[in-house]
Amino acid sequence: MKSDSSVRILKTIREIQKTSEKFRSEGKKIAVVPTMGYLHKGHTSLIERAGSLADIVITTIFVNPAQFGPNEDFTRYPRDFERDKTAAQAAGSGIVFYPDVEEMYPKGFVSFVEAGEASNILEGKFRPKHFRGVTTVVAKLLNITKPHIAIFGQKDAQQAFIIRKMIRDLNFDIDIVIAPIVRETDGLAISSRNIYLNETERKNALVLFRSLQYAQERIRQGERSIASIRKEMLNIIRSGAPAQIDYVAFIDPVNFSETENINQSEILIALAVRFGSTRLIDNILIPIS
Ligand code: AMP
Repeated sequence: MKSDSSVRILKTIREIQKTSEKFRSEGKKIAVVPTMGYLHKGHTSLIERAGSLADIVITTIFVNPAQFGPNEDFTRYPRDFERDKTAAQAAGSGIVFYPDVEEMYPKGFVSFVEAGEASNILEGKFRPKHFRGVTTVVAKLLNITKPHIAIFGQKDAQQAFIIRKMIRDLNFDIDIVIAPIVRETDGLAISSRNIYLNETERKNALVLFRSLQYAQERIRQGERSIASIRKEMLNIIRSGAPAQIDYVAFIDPVNFSETENINQSEILIALAVRFGSTRLIDNILIPIS
């Protein structure tokens, strides 16, 4: 679907299932980009990637209550559907699925997808039940939009791993594509939550990417001591006056478990840090030569 044709907004599951079924019967390839809206350049890069891989791009916009904890920002999560519609269309999305909460979770809803071990560490430790909410909504969205391809961002590396695993474990007949992190020109990973940052916090948050780049450089130079790299990363992050460092974790991307060694072919360094009341995550995937 071309970006100059007008985007179709579908709000009911029945409508979009019928629409996808029709496209499939015409031999069209469908890609879906699940989002929570408030679209930014990270999201639109996924939509553009989807357009390069498929005939029809469906963007889903749904702030999923099941992945927010009781003290998290579900009600104040930023929303702007009119702007999202324009952004999705400009990036090449022909269809936007925009259901309300009752459509996705009608009264009596009880079935959830459990996400396994990888969902209990890092984000899962700080956000209990978060990944159960993510896998459940993604499974639903895949059944609802019936895509051939689903695109997710490396920005949420743990989520990408867990969804890839779910797709394999539950035999979804769908190719998953993980797209690279889009950053602001100064290096801050783009996130809908960046708008919560005040001017000072926004400036301080640059320590996140700086610390990840530092680690990358040290590993490139041959450093293999995680303790030494982590210590300096923490110093760099602390220079940005964070309210709290939730974690700086070294992960083996093959099984998404924390590792004590740098001896695999790639290492993922993932972190979560709070600036004021805003919690930011970022990561870097480093090849080991
Ligand atoms: P969200 O709306 O935050 O649930 O994100 C929807 C999708 O966009 C997820 O697959 C995210 O990983 C991806 N995404 C969010 N921010 C970025 C970014 N800066 N670069 C690349 N992908 C992103």
